[in-house]
Amino acid sequence: MDRISHWINGKVVPSSSGRSAAVFNPATGEQSGAVDLASADEVDAAVAAAKAAFPAWRATSLSQRAEILFRMRELVDANRKEIATLLTAEHGKVLSDSMGEVARGLENIEFACGVPQLIKGEYSEQASTGIDVYSIRQPLGVVAGVTPFNFPAMVPMWMFANALACGNTFVLKPSEKDPSVTMFIAELLSKAGLPDGCFNIVQGDKVAVDRILEHGDIAAVSFVGSTPIAKYIYETGTANGKRVQALGGAKNHMLVLNDADVGMAADAAIGAAYGSAGERCMAISVVLAAEGIADALVAEIADRIPSITVGAGYEPGNDMGPLITAASRDRVKGYIDGAPGEGATVVVDGRDGIPQEGFFVNPTLLDHVSTEMACYTDEIFGPVLSVVRVAGYQEGLDIINANPFANGTAIFTRDGGAARQFQFDVEVGMVGVNVPVPVPVSYYSFGGWKASLFGDTHMYGPEGINFYTRGKVVTSRWPDPASSTIDLGFPETR
Ligand code: NAD
Repeated sequence: MDRISHWINGKVVPSSSGRSAAVFNPATGEQSGAVDLASADEVDAAVAAAKAAFPAWRATSLSQRAEILFRMRELVDANRKEIATLLTAEHGKVLSDSMGEVARGLENIEFACGVPQLIKGEYSEQASTGIDVYSIRQPLGVVAGVTPFNFPAMVPMWMFANALACGNTFVLKPSEKDPSVTMFIAELLSKAGLPDGCFNIVQGDKVAVDRILEHGDIAAVSFVGSTPIAKYIYETGTANGKRVQALGGAKNHMLVLNDADVGMAADAAIGAAYGSAGERCMAISVVLAAEGIADALVAEIADRIPSITVGAGYEPGNDMGPLITAASRDRVKGYIDGAPGEGATVVVDGRDGIPQEGFFVNPTLLDHVSTEMACYTDEIFGPVLSVVRVAGYQEGLDIINANPFANGTAIFTRDGGAARQFQFDVEVGMVGVNVPVPVPVSYYSFGGWKASLFGDTHMYGPEGINFYTRGKVVTSRWPDPASSTIDLGFPETR
């Protein structure tokens, strides 16, 4: 059985905490490994390594840092399959989906390769007579990342690529449910030439996270996970004087207007609801169907569901894998159990035909859902798509804007004016127009609004560069004896 330990100062460091957690193969339900759970002292050791590495790393030239990131880009590219395979083994998502995750993560490393351009400041010559003013951006120091189970490779890449590029050193606390892939990534960073101590991993649970939140040598924390924990991380981290960005959960709506192409909307809903078994923060979990199209849309979605092959992610040909844990499977089934009692219609029941082994729930379609039902109000995080029927654009918009979550949303229509109005009106951070999963490319930034984000800064892209740096403005005059005078007045720009 695999033992997954920490990565501190460029090498694997087994824990001596005496605590560990089981890691499973979700397709069989069997334990495949045990992950060490760090003590506070082990977090301190990782932070000490990162702190010791910081002065030399921040002094490393931009071109040398970029060169290491370019090498990392090549290594991740060459090892896509290995990374995806590790990821599928512990997460359960199908290999093609894992390959997609690696590809989207890699985009962030590619973006960070441009750090010499991204971190440039501004310069004003002759702001006053003989005086120039310029701005520079400098790293924060040791920064930490705490990441969720559902994107165990991509979400760390959202964070460490820009953080390291900007000259920070990094401590990662991955999800304890699928931790192995990050250890492989740490090895690749070493092979790329990243000096020891610049990137460290502490495996663990709340004990490790709480130590990160209170540690005086950590300047900033990036978090991605569920809303209650995101709120806790933001409140505790900022109370301890840290810069924090904490991305939370989601309930993403797809509004389908009467003039939409029904087949295209059904295809999009299938991919966005059941891809990765619905364990995506950008998954569509609610279709808001305008009444003129609702019957046809529900029928077309239901027709397509039997063609989805469910099985182990590592077996070729499967479209959808299992959920992450037995607890997650049982929780998702609980929402399907409860739906009819609340008045919803179970059109396709994902409890039927579930394999004996593993943490599977099949694709499920609920119709006639209303906004007070638990299957609507809660983030189910499984392959359950709810259809809420609406009169049209305004009712759909009002439902989306009344929801406390605001990560992603999409509108399906042929009406450009309606789409433009939607983009203007909707109170959600990431919007798709006939695009169901509008995850921004790496040169924009990722983040929701309201209960889907705590903090001011979205993740990766330009906002990531801002998050991992702080600004300094220099006002400078070179000695010019010819113009030197004594002046006791307050400096004015003349
Ligand atoms: P989670 O909140 O349970 O765990 C996230 C991280 O927090 C893990 O590293 C975990 O070890 C740690 N953690 C858990 N409980 C903690 C506690 N009490 N104190 C301190 N740390 C704790 O989330 P998850 O189940 O791993 O991931 C799924 C959730 O993440 C979903 O809600 C999903 O919507 C969300 N998510 C959001 C985004 C986004 O960008 N907004 C992206 C991916 C996932």
